[in-house]
Amino acid sequence: MGFPVAHSLSPRLHSHWLAHYGVDGAYVPLCVAPAHLEQALRALPVLGFRGCNLTLPHKEAAMAMVDVVDPVACAVGAINTVIVEEGGLLRGTNTDAFGFLANLRAGVGVLDPYLAHAVVLGAGGAARAVVKALLDAGTQRITLANRTRVTADALANHAGAGVTVVDVVRLPEALGSCSLLVNTTSCGMEGQPSLEVDLTPLPLTALVTDLVYRPLETALLRAARARGNPVVDGLGMLIHQAAPGFAVWFGVMPDVDERVRKALLQA
Ligand code: NAP
Repeated sequence: MGFPVAHSLSPRLHSHWLAHYGVDGAYVPLCVAPAHLEQALRALPVLGFRGCNLTLPHKEAAMAMVDVVDPVACAVGAINTVIVEEGGLLRGTNTDAFGFLANLRAGVGVLDPYLAHAVVLGAGGAARAVVKALLDAGTQRITLANRTRVTADALANHAGAGVTVVDVVRLPEALGSCSLLVNTTSCGMEGQPSLEVDLTPLPLTALVTDLVYRPLETALLRAARARGNPVVDGLGMLIHQAAPGFAVWFGVMPDVDERVRKALLQA
């Protein structure tokens, strides 16, 4: 469920796995306006759905609409996966943090060399999941920079010790000691404004990753790769965050391999 939802690659992803594992099921895009979200969620058990994913702008609003919010979703402050339990109870969880870390690990193997100082651009729903993932992974220091300072302050307060905020104009200083740079803003995405970040102060050893996956190689990743930084694109996060939902709804933990990535790239 999203609003809009037509751009989502998730139906292609789940349909690929359904066909691959021979599961008799379906995953369909549902365009649901925010005013109808609760009604639509309550209809899931009645209509025979096993659950759903939630995308923009529903992830935070759904927290107050499901029956049980699991600890991961509480910590992130957003739900991206809903599971219909026995008796029609709705359980909300969040797999974005898992997907983010799984993608980075698939890209670089061991994450430890990159966990000294993470700089996170943006402070929206995706940034909340990224901050939770980075803290879970043992990141020593996280610096947030966001266009709207107050949103970043709220996220830092929610996350607790180890997370600080800088004004965007102070970003160059933060980049000087950065070991992992993450773009969680929608800047750089097709149809969105470009991301304005000067990478000059960034050490060449820093890992650079972008949650935006349309285009797959964003201007940020292209610039980072050109100067020699290791990079990880955002498509893998989409695939990894989807796998736990597929497992609980359809009973098979799907493989996250090159075939599924290829299917999405073709889509
Ligand atoms: P969101 O909650 O709407 O947050 C958007 C963020 O981008 C905010 O920090 C916002 O800053 C910033 N932003 C938007 N326009 C901007 C501009 N013109 N200049 C500077 N900053 C701007 O969205 P979200 O759910 O966090 O998603 C963010 C991006 O991550 C999207 O592109 C989404 O597709 C992607 N994403 C990818 C995955 C994946 O699996 N790869 C998963 C989740 C999200 P303000 O606070 O100032 O508005």
